[in-house]
Amino acid sequence: MHLEGSIGPELAMQLATRRGVELPGASEGVEGLRAAYRYANFQDFIRLYVAISRCLCEAEDFADAVAGVAHAAADEGVRYAEYTFTPMTHVARGVDPERMLEGLAQGRARARAEHGVEIGWVFDVVRSFPDQGMPTVELMLRARAMGEAVVGLGVGGPEGPQWPAAALVPVFARAKAEGFAALPHAGEQDGPASVAAAIDEFGADRIGHGVRVVEEPALLARVAELGIPLELCPSSNLVLGFYPDLAAHPLAALDAAGVKWSINSDDPPLFGTTLTNEYLRCARHYGWDAHRIHAIARAAVEHSYLQASTANEICSAQDDWLRAQLERA
Ligand SMILES: [Zn+2]
Repeated sequence: MHLEGSIGPELAMQLATRRGVELPGASEGVEGLRAAYRYANFQDFIRLYVAISRCLCEAEDFADAVAGVAHAAADEGVRYAEYTFTPMTHVARGVDPERMLEGLAQGRARARAEHGVEIGWVFDVVRSFPDQGMPTVELMLRARAMGEAVVGLGVGGPEGPQWPAAALVPVFARAKAEGFAALPHAGEQDGPASVAAAIDEFGADRIGHGVRVVEEPALLARVAELGIPLELCPSSNLVLGFYPDLAAHPLAALDAAGVKWSINSDDPPLFGTTLTNEYLRCARHYGWDAHRIHAIARAAVEHSYLQASTANEICSAQDDWLRAQLERA
């Protein structure tokens, strides 16, 4: 999920008040802001996302944002999260990169100490700002040198032929040479060609969404054969209008083709969801039983960049959950 997109109305209100940022609907109080979280189109979604991002200025803002989203994650049983964060959007509007990284580190330490949530970072670049790519890798190196768990480089934002992958090829090459995973979003707004570029040009180790790979059988078979996991975010796809409902969503087709995937929440409050809700919604629609839910949650651990000792702890907690479900049944 995205750090900035995981900030719910209460936390956003608190940060906006501190920095004097005007959020949509917020003149009517937190309820007005909550209403703005139920936007009608992609433009309103972006407007809100950008407004929330603008509330993050000083180290304490980033720290409170991280601790706040980790608190919400802990409340639904999350033990580990990989947060995508877009550092250069903040630096480009004048945020001091050192303060920003300090804030992330403080927030991550608080997430662990206060909420028992371990965090891995994915720093990403907006596809329409490829010049921010190399500076993003520099910030990843700086954060890693500070002891932060930076697991990979991502790319998000608008997809399409006007934003060719070529501009980011040297950026992903550099990130991979430095030992970071390539974790691009692809195949959401744009079709299979975007997924092919993510694999062939970025060396994708895991792909955000990737759902539109179903439109090209040969590529679908290739993704399955290569074992590149997809981060599926069903509610995100439905809210943004890529599919009308779960019946039209390609999850089942991807699964039938043998593609690896996990269930994710993307920007949970902005899509009116939580990770738990994503599991419940899919479980109801696809008829998943406890064994299936357990296997899907296990896959999420396997596709993550979590260190082995914590991964083992989480897997044994998942096994305990399954045992409890079976005993209750
Ligand atoms: Zn995303």
